[in-house]
Amino acid sequence: MATNSEATILYIEDDIASRLLVQRVLGSRGYDVHVAGNGLDGIALARDKEPQLILMDINLPDMDGREITTRLRGLPNFSEVPIVALTANISAGSREMALAAGCTGFLTKPINVSEFPQQVKDFLQGRVEPLSPSERNIHLQKHAQNLVERLENKIRELEGANKRLRELDKMKSDFIVLVSHELRTPLTLISGYAHLLEEQLKQTNDQTVPAETVKSIAEGLNLGVTRMREVVNEIISVSRIASGTLELAIGPVRLQQIMEDLRQDLDEVCRRRRLTLEIGDLHNLPVIEGDGKRIRVALENVMGNAIKFTPDGGSIFVVGRKVGDAVDLIIRDTGIGIPVKEQRRIFDQFYVLGSIQHHSTSKSAFQGGGLGLGLAIAHGIVEAHNGRIWVESKRRDLENPPGSTFHILLPIRQASQQTIL
Ligand code: ADP
Repeated sequence: MATNSEATILYIEDDIASRLLVQRVLGSRGYDVHVAGNGLDGIALARDKEPQLILMDINLPDMDGREITTRLRGLPNFSEVPIVALTANISAGSREMALAAGCTGFLTKPINVSEFPQQVKDFLQGRVEPLSPSERNIHLQKHAQNLVERLENKIRELEGANKRLRELDKMKSDFIVLVSHELRTPLTLISGYAHLLEEQLKQTNDQTVPAETVKSIAEGLNLGVTRMREVVNEIISVSRIASGTLELAIGPVRLQQIMEDLRQDLDEVCRRRRLTLEIGDLHNLPVIEGDGKRIRVALENVMGNAIKFTPDGGSIFVVGRKVGDAVDLIIRDTGIGIPVKEQRRIFDQFYVLGSIQHHSTSKSAFQGGGLGLGLAIAHGIVEAHNGRIWVESKRRDLENPPGSTFHILLPIRQASQQTIL
């Protein structure tokens, strides 16, 4: 057993100030002091350095000092090494618990600088603090119970994390399938029109193709390219949101104007699907501060979903009201609704409710199309404006559609530009 002051000492402690003090006090006495900031590093360092004494903090971020002690006692070469608990926790029973877990002694923090070197020397020379067998039994049982309880919590935690990872993994593979479907549809369209043009040129023996034909081919090509651009833009937006690099160009935003523009874009699909789009009077809404283009994208996604998930012949209503320092835009549809337990998760990336088969058709048909990114993008944009987006719906029901109501709450002023009165 080492009794001289060249002994190697390991101190397992997460508090830097305590580490420095002990290192200084014992280092100046010629001890070779090594430190570790958590239990796992401590065990690895103990194996590596084979210290003659270990000073052990009890409250550590990963394993606690008692658990590390029990673990070390089970390792070859550590059954006899003095392990001294060094802790600020002096509550009733903490000394006995530490000794029952395998500690040789128990010292309290802050250390008494003038007595500490002698205390360490005593433990190096074989001092062992006593604990009666009955006390040892009681505290050993408590220690064992604590260990099992911690293990149980850890298992639960790991199972939860594992489940989330599996879900994420599935979402990502579904996403790849969706992206390929979504890109393939416009790609087929583009390649079809390109062939058509080739055919036309062949048929006319390289003489001029009628302007009408060229025009309709160009329209078809444009349609495909536009949809491809949309898909690519969605992917770029969502990756910017995920990496926190979405930049806003703040200026005055007239929500009424955005809604009117959107109505024009959506008119055709609404007419085709016999959907009524009713936009209430938004004239009285205040002009808000924000990034108009991005807010339009958020609204486009929510409106697009309202159309997509409402059966033919249904209705979509938009109203807006001022609520305190914010504007609440409410988009209500008579669509298939969203199950209550999914109402938060639909704002997650890659979240597509129901079978992904529904999403391999065109973007505008009932339930068709979509990468499961639209609401994640809307959510990211609204949050970047310090706003909030949420949905209210009773259930999902394709037979008796209960409808969904989306709220988009946007502050009238952005914090950085607010004037302090
Ligand atoms: P997608 O691109 O698939 O539409 P979103 O992120 O926009 O992805 O929406 C996620 C999911 O939320 C959709 O797949 C759909 O199941 C559900 N959802 C969104 N809006 C509505 C709505 N108005 N009515 C019913 N379900 C909706």
